[in-house]
Amino acid sequence: MNEGERLTELAKRRGFYFPAAGAYGGAAGFWTYGPQGAALKDNIEDAWRDRFVVRAGHQEISAPDVMPEAVFEASGHLDGFDDMIIECSECGTTHRADHIVEDATDIEEAESLPNEEVMDIIAEQDIECPSCSASLADEPVDNFNLMFETNIGPGSSSPGYLRPETAQGIFVEFPRLSEYARNQLPFGVAQIGKAYRNEISPRKSLVRVREFTQAELEHFVDPEEDEPPLSTVEDVTLPLYSGANQQADDSGLEQLTVREAVDSGIVTSDWVAYYLGVARDWYERIGIDMDRFRFRQHLPGELAHYASDCWDAEAEIDGDWIEITGFAYRGDYDLRKHAQHSGQDYTVFKQYDEPITVERPTVDPEMGYLGPEFGGDAGAVADALEQLAADDPDAFEGDEVTVELDGQAVTVPVERTGYSVEEVTENGEHITPHVVEPSFGVGRLIYTVLAHAYTEDEVDGEERTYLELPAEQAPTTVGVFPLMDRDGLGEYARELAEALRRAGHSVTYDDSGAIGRRYRRQDEIGTPYCVTVDYESLGKPEDGEDPEELQADTVTLRERDSTAQKRVSIDGLAEALGRLVGGEVTFDDL
Ligand code: AMP
Repeated sequence: MNEGERLTELAKRRGFYFPAAGAYGGAAGFWTYGPQGAALKDNIEDAWRDRFVVRAGHQEISAPDVMPEAVFEASGHLDGFDDMIIECSECGTTHRADHIVEDATDIEEAESLPNEEVMDIIAEQDIECPSCSASLADEPVDNFNLMFETNIGPGSSSPGYLRPETAQGIFVEFPRLSEYARNQLPFGVAQIGKAYRNEISPRKSLVRVREFTQAELEHFVDPEEDEPPLSTVEDVTLPLYSGANQQADDSGLEQLTVREAVDSGIVTSDWVAYYLGVARDWYERIGIDMDRFRFRQHLPGELAHYASDCWDAEAEIDGDWIEITGFAYRGDYDLRKHAQHSGQDYTVFKQYDEPITVERPTVDPEMGYLGPEFGGDAGAVADALEQLAADDPDAFEGDEVTVELDGQAVTVPVERTGYSVEEVTENGEHITPHVVEPSFGVGRLIYTVLAHAYTEDEVDGEERTYLELPAEQAPTTVGVFPLMDRDGLGEYARELAEALRRAGHSVTYDDSGAIGRRYRRQDEIGTPYCVTVDYESLGKPEDGEDPEELQADTVTLRERDSTAQKRVSIDGLAEALGRLVGGEVTFDDL
């Protein structure tokens, strides 16, 4: 079993995640999070919210999963959110053409190649169908749109789509969101929610699925004035896999601080560099192994047309690098598109420090001339003259000026246009903010955190599997066990469990089987601490023990990773656990 298979086996057995609707054969690419997985997912989302929303002073929203077609026409998803598909005419299976090329050759990012080139490579290398081994050399490579389509209401007159990313739910609402932020840049709006992509071939359990959770932040900034607080992360070291190294086939990473990455120009956007720094520390906090982690720069052909610099955070599992987050400087592309398509105002008014005087060319056309001359088109001619004055005042320098009306050139004597240049005072200007976007896939974070936490060792001559999860992320913080469920031990332990729950801890009570087996069960789900209640806790001597020596109301506290145990008082236990989870003390300090 490889790392991924081993993990998925544990995930199913212990209730992290499993294929959904298995009773009916399931549907590829849909997974249900079991009790442990749902708790872990909540903890990772809470840690994200804590860092990227609350501590950052940003706002969070929750937009619908289904949105009307117009949104995705504007965003470009309807036309361009495609993957390359190839169908085997022998067995009828469809595959991602770029993936089969990557699997069969040394090419790393076949997605960035044009369809024709991918087709040529498949023909030249005579690549076979991964399902039936028939040759795919003569099969066409087509585009397949990944959006799930639905109808809004009865009938088909109102198509809608399940959102392929949460981001559009933020962009489309920008005018209102900007008002809530008192139209003051910079401001950030975040969203944690479902995204849907009808992937051609879902694979590797949570890695490529058709329904997944994204945590996205859209940070709206004034490109001229706003700068990120780089000094707060400038010393964070980033493992960078630059475009230049990828092209030189050099898989080495450059370990640069955020400041060095910016100064050397390897990361071109200060904003992107800032978020790489923030995210690097956050990944470590949630338990991603920094020795199996890198930031990879997008290659020129891979870059979305609107993005100037993009980096992916990637984690290594089974020798493969998995993209867990995309960081993009998206410019004003998204807001401009929604402004164009909706006709609404997606700008922010930027006040100048002091008003400025500017010359503004204007027209005041003689309608008594335009009316008889152009009839019903007179109004449109006047509008076109006004636009031309704003765009190209030099056009009014001769005797005549020409504007276009429905493709026809129309000429007007300049003296009839009322052209003049006024001096006006301006207090500010309307600008379209730029957007910096870190986009996290929660399922891939979970998969990575679990894979990197998976550890095997030997305890008392027996093999043990445990998840070395940070205590903050673990689905359960503490397991509470009575030695046996008799002589009042069970009642005592249940009361203790209740008290710990009241103090806000996530507690599992377990009285079944030998204590060793109960420890192993908690180890396998990553529970960082276990508490055992025994006769001493009740103040009852056992087998000739001296009652004077007994410490009533104490329990054994065991640490998962070291399996070390300590006798601790139940007074203050809840608080001590809180400090352990928060990293304020270590187990040894207790
Ligand atoms: P993208 O918009 O493609 O850059 O995706 C943003 C993030 O969403 C990625 O970094 C992944 O973590 C996650 N993601 C994208 N597609 C999938 C998928 N099919 N299954 C799981 N996670 C995904």
